[in-house]
Amino acid sequence: MQGRTAIVTGGSRGIGRAVCLELARRGVNLVIGYAGNCQAAEETRQACAALGVSALTLQGNVAEAETCEALTAAALSDFGRVDILVNNAGITRDNLLMRMGVEDFDAVIRTNLHGSFLMMKAVSRQMMKQRYGRIVNLSSVVGLSGNAGQVNYAASKAGVIGMTKSFAKEVASRGITVNAVAPGFIETDMTAKMTEAAAKAAAASIPAGRMGTPEDVAAAAVFFASSEAAYVTGQVLAVDGGMY
Ligand code: NAP
Repeated sequence: MQGRTAIVTGGSRGIGRAVCLELARRGVNLVIGYAGNCQAAEETRQACAALGVSALTLQGNVAEAETCEALTAAALSDFGRVDILVNNAGITRDNLLMRMGVEDFDAVIRTNLHGSFLMMKAVSRQMMKQRYGRIVNLSSVVGLSGNAGQVNYAASKAGVIGMTKSFAKEVASRGITVNAVAPGFIETDMTAKMTEAAAKAAAASIPAGRMGTPEDVAAAAVFFASSEAAYVTGQVLAVDGGMY
């Protein structure tokens, strides 16, 4: 993977940061997208640069096409290629359906599903031209199993799976693979927001007996992003300690 270029959305923290570091360890140059946490993004950038790769950060909302085009343009102007896209930026706005506002439903769909669509659209022309690309989308076990209090999030993550499998068929003949990772319950800021009772219940449902780490997820994402995974496309890999 030495010398390849990756765009990682939501690379400032959590799973996205772990993916950036794993890619950097393999010599991949990085464009690190983030929403607003400049300090966290800069920490990730410095940690990647310390591993000997070139890395830059770019702030913006993945739900907006301009951000997705700017991330792609940054990769092209600095590195001349886009080999890998990791669609990792994501949010939750949990509530029971009967109490969920339309704006909370829309915000989650726009960031998690629409954002991943816009990013794939933004990089696809360049990947086609290269006849090489690795797209890794972050779904969730919740997109497979459903989860009370997360109709918006589950819909977005199930949508990501449908989109992954469909786009995989569209671009397979061009040397581009499209796969999804479906994490279970991973220790990040996202899960730190859960109530103690909900976190306890979730932890009790993990056969492996522990929450996952961002590095557990990064290992799967980096496999899909590798040249060796050339004949693997349209797949969903659960990284969930046996939960689903
Ligand atoms: P996290 O710690 O909350 O980090 C979210 C990241 O996404 C941050 O880098 C954030 O940027 C960025 N982001 C959020 N909204 C954005 C937007 N509109 N535009 C651009 N960037 C945006 O999340 P995480 O737990 O690492 O989750 C990463 C991915 O894995 C998400 O897609 C999530 O749904 C999925 N996932 C997580 C778990 C879990 O248990 N944690 C389980 C299954 C799936 P800032 O730092 O600037 O805010």
